Amino acid sequence: MNPTRSPHRVALITGAGREKGIGAAIARRLAQVNVSLILTDLCAAPSDHPLAPQGGQWQTLQHLADELTRSADIQTLPLQVDVTDRNAIGNMIEQIQAAFGRLDILINNAGVAVGPAPVAQMDPSAWQRTLDVNLTGTFYVTQAALPMLIQTASQTGRGRIINMASLAATHPKPFLAAYAASKAGVVAFTRALAQEIAQFGITVNTLLPGDIDTDFKHWGLQLESMVRRQEYEEVLQAAIAQIPVGRLGKPEDVAAVVAFLCSEEADFITGQAINITGGRELVQATMPK
Ligand code: NAD
Repeated sequence: MNPTRSPHRVALITGAGREKGIGAAIARRLAQVNVSLILTDLCAAPSDHPLAPQGGQWQTLQHLADELTRSADIQTLPLQVDVTDRNAIGNMIEQIQAAFGRLDILINNAGVAVGPAPVAQMDPSAWQRTLDVNLTGTFYVTQAALPMLIQTASQTGRGRIINMASLAATHPKPFLAAYAASKAGVVAFTRALAQEIAQFGITVNTLLPGDIDTDFKHWGLQLESMVRRQEYEEVLQAAIAQIPVGRLGKPEDVAAVVAFLCSEEADFITGQAINITGGRELVQATMPK
């Protein structure tokens, strides 16, 4: 690890601890353009309940960091960080300062959909945790990272913040009110912040992925198959049928947009909410019976 200023751009990615997740795909894509990476995740203990949401793991985070250090001319720093824990975030920022001395890019990717349920039966703690991770976590990490992002931008002329929302922000599905509200909050947060820090050359954009082929998505489809009392494969094919391009999105589809937004070519794009959906929003959703 270089104890002084990194020669490469440096990106912090939250929620990067799942092998097939969007965070890992973004890490691999940014490594291809020689961006050094701080890879973070909650790394919660796996649940043995078949329908419980699973999360990233420390081993996966470490493997990803090793893989990218070997395959690209970059430095990596894997860290276990809960985006709802301001002390842990503060420590993370200190470690980034010590190890890299700069921060060019922040990707707020960590996200959860705790306890999907009709509003009438929703557990308030599930609502709260979803808002805490997706919206407040995005605020906490952004606020802590801003001084270093601004300091770096004062020398390079640019910086990037990319927040992961969801198509649910504009096209909410039943049973996912907490998730949808949190992601709509991320869009509004992005638009306000973009105006505040445009003066430093830092752009702030948010991505609205549709159905992306990750374990998180398949967990959601599993729950849907239970609610609809339909076979999993039937629910999956019905979801695909509602996507005009005829397939689920790949994590790499999202990572490609991130790479573009991080490039100099995207200097004039800020405060935007960008759909990555294969056209899904053009088709009406159906209500589970
Ligand atoms: P994923 O479950 O693979 O990734 C989310 C990661 O966030 C997990 O590794 C998890 O451990 C981590 N995380 C959860 N709580 C955390 C916390 N408190 N602190 C730090 N990390 C925490 O899911 P994904 O499909 O790769 O989703 C990535 C992002 O994209 C999420 O914000 C999700 O809401 C969003 N998204 C996904 C889809 C999709 O279809 N997959 C669609 C729209 C938006």
